[in-house]
Order: sequence, then structure tokens, then C-alpha cells
Amino acid sequence: MTVLYKADPARGAIWAERFAEVAPDTPLRIWPDIGDPASIRYLVAWEPGDLVTTLPNLDVLFSVGAGVDQLDLARIPPHLPVVRMIEPGIVDGMVEYVTEAVLAIHRDLFDYAQQQQARVWRAMPLRPAASRRIGVLGLGMLGTAVLERLRLFGFACAGWNRSARTIDGVDCFAGRDALDAFLARTDVLVCLLPLTDATRGLLDAQLFAKLPAGASLVHVGRGPQLVAADLLDALQRDHLHSAVLDVTDPEPLPADHPLWTQPRVRITPHIASATRPESGADAVLDNLRRRRAGEPMIGEIDRARGY
Ligand code: NDP
Repeated sequence: MTVLYKADPARGAIWAERFAEVAPDTPLRIWPDIGDPASIRYLVAWEPGDLVTTLPNLDVLFSVGAGVDQLDLARIPPHLPVVRMIEPGIVDGMVEYVTEAVLAIHRDLFDYAQQQQARVWRAMPLRPAASRRIGVLGLGMLGTAVLERLRLFGFACAGWNRSARTIDGVDCFAGRDALDAFLARTDVLVCLLPLTDATRGLLDAQLFAKLPAGASLVHVGRGPQLVAADLLDALQRDHLHSAVLDVTDPEPLPADHPLWTQPRVRITPHIASATRPESGADAVLDNLRRRRAGEPMIGEIDRARGY
């Protein structure tokens, strides 16, 4: 019942320390030092490569991150459960990132940055949070946590999701038919959807046109959900005011990409949140216990849905 870890080796060293500390009976090996392939039952990986077919006794594949879109699910044997990472570090990081982005937009910091460049000292009217309408696409683990925090500032909060949800103090919209109404009431749109065939290219000209003039985008989902040319066009026409992008397509964003030099676009290199190695190791260990006890694991994905 050895666990094999195949991702960033520096973080892997912390995983190994955590396993040694809290689960000394569960050996953890760091790829490529795999030892006897037949002893490996569990694989924790970002990109597992051929290991999903070459390890003869593999029982579970754990993604080291919250998403599984980096995996080619068609290449993973159908009997092998795939489990995404659910641990508090990912949630905390995302809540911090989106809160900061929304507050920066709300407090006009993009405009003040431009004023600073021009050495202009001019105050803009302060808008109450209740008049700023925040809308989150995707009411999963992260979208829900983000809204629960933003609500505390007094923003008018709403969310849109495939299936119906109820979140205290949040106006929840469900399904394609409700998307237009959700967009029409949204000043700051936050994307926290998983990448699937249904969400690829969703953030396009058609969608931007349904947002009120002057709206902003915070994109923390996945790069291919955004049509960058349509965003640039909406910004240049001043239909959209600003964008905070943590994810792009491709990553890294090429040095000559026009998004880099847009005045009211802020780009970060996919750092909104990441698995915290200590609590990530704990989450996997808890799932191993569940698997052995015949209980459902937390975060097992639905292969047909793709998330
Ligand atoms: P979850 O799986 O918990 O939630 C996804 C939500 O999206 C679900 O509520 C689901 O609804 C909804 N959804 C899926 N497809 C659609 C669709 N076509 N239309 C409407 N709603 C849809 O995921 P998380 O909240 O944990 O993470 C969301 C995404 O955030 C990840 O997939 C990843 O891409 C991104 N992420 C980005 C990070 C970063 O650093 N930038 C870090 C971590 C994650 P339902 O349940 O009804 O199907």
C-alpha cells in the first residue's frame, strides 16, 4: 500500500515529512524513485503520464490539484477512481485572491493606478458595497466559499450554477435559461467553473455583451474558458472596465500577447491558490482510510461529467 507522489519535488519533500509524522505505516515514494512498481497502490500526481496503465496494482489516482482538466481522462482505465484535491489551503488562497481582486475593482484601484502614472491627485466618488453587484460563475467548493466571504462586505451577491443551489444571502441562478438574467445584474463577474466542453470559450463576446456597460471580470477558472480577443475588444470599446486574470491560454502567456499591455488588465501567473502540502497530505490520508473502510472518498470525480 505504497503511495507514489509525482509532482513538484520540493513540495513532495513536505508530503514525505507529513506522511512520516502522521502515518508512518504508509510509505510515500517520490517519483522517479518508484521502487517495486507492484507495491504502489495509490498515485498522487499532477500529470501521471503512463503510470496509470503501467502500475499493475494501482487502486486510486489522486490529482494533486483542485481541477482534473490537466488529465486525459480517456487514457485512464475506466475502473480507476480519480479523486480531486479538496483541502482548506486551496479554499483559503482562492478566497484571498478573489476578495482582493473584487475590492481592488470596487475601490477603483485600476483607475487610481492610471492616475498615479500621470501624477494626478483626484478623488472619485465612493460607492457603497451594497450597490456593487458581484456574480460568481460556478457554485462549487470555491465559488461558494468566495461568496460567503464577499457577502460579509455587504456586496449584492449572486451565483450561477448548473444545478440549483441555496446559499445564505446569495441570489442563486441555475441553468442556461437563467444565465442572461444573472449576467444582466452583474457588475463584477468572477469565473470559478471547471474546464469542460460546456465551459470552454464561455467567456466570449456574446457573454460580455450581456453584462452591463462598465462591468469587470475576475477570471480564476481555466485559461481556455476565455476568448482573449473578445475580452480585448470589450475593454477597448469600454464596454468592460477592467479584468483580473490569473489563468490564460496558453500558460505562460507569450511575451508579445496584447493582454500584457492593456491598461486595466492585471495578470498573475496562475497563483490564485495551490494545494498546501501538509493539508493536502492529510486529505489523501483521510481518503485512504475511507477507501480501506469501503466509504466514499471525498472529491471523487464523475468521469462522464469531467469534474
Ligand atoms: P467544484 O467541482 O466544487 O465546483 C464546480 C461547480 O461548477 C459546480 O457547482 C458545478 O455545478 C458548476 N458547473 C460545472 N459545469 C458547469 C456548467 N457547464 N454550467 C454551470 N455550472 C457548472 O470545483 P471547485 O469550486 O473546487 O473549483 C472550480 C475550478 O476552479 C476548478 O475546476 C479549477 O478550474 C479552478 N481553480 C483555479 C485555481 C487557480 O489557482 N486559479 C485553483 C483551484 C481551482 P454542478 O455541481 O451542478 O455540476
